[in-house]
Amino acid sequence: MSEVRGVDELIRGLVRDIADYPKPGILFKDITPLLGDPEGFTRTVDALGAPWQNSQPRIDKVVGIEARGFILAAPVALALGAGFVPVRKAGKLPGQTFSQSYALEYGEETLEVHRDAFAPGERVLVVDDVLATGGTVDATASLIRAAGAQIVGVSVLLELTFLEPRARLGDLPLHSLLPV
Ligand code: AMP
Repeated sequence: MSEVRGVDELIRGLVRDIADYPKPGILFKDITPLLGDPEGFTRTVDALGAPWQNSQPRIDKVVGIEARGFILAAPVALALGAGFVPVRKAGKLPGQTFSQSYALEYGEETLEVHRDAFAPGERVLVVDDVLATGGTVDATASLIRAAGAQIVGVSVLLELTFLEPRARLGDLPLHSLLPV
């Protein structure tokens, strides 16, 4: 009988550490080997959506954060029978937007979402690749609320636990496939 590996073990084997990218002192988690592996990609998408597969009421929209979040969030949206909404860097969305700025380790970032991306009260899941300080997800949660929807959870592939991102997310349900 062939051994069935856990998705955490698959991810551990297929995510590559790149030192000092994009800046000295950052250990970059490169997910491209995982995306290039059919079993790794499929099982990652399944696992990211699994806790919300039978949620009642259902998930209406899955939000992906530019850019790697798009690659994971779009197939999760299809798997859940939900729509997909992009949260993008400033100036990339063509329609009217809500904006949220937040501090990065170095400098500042601004994220945007279309003002009409959600119907009032829609239930939203956020999907991203790496949860580091939690600032990006926190800003995304603010955008979702500003646009009149309800964020019901967050699914990430990797959680950098030493940066304590959970503290930033309060009581928002967080599903991380591999805490490291
Ligand atoms: P943060 O706002 O600190 O939680 O950072 C999360 C965002 O930055 C995510 O969209 C990640 O794609 C990216 N990110 C942060 N740290 C890393 C890392 N060590 N490796 C890869 N991506 C990262």
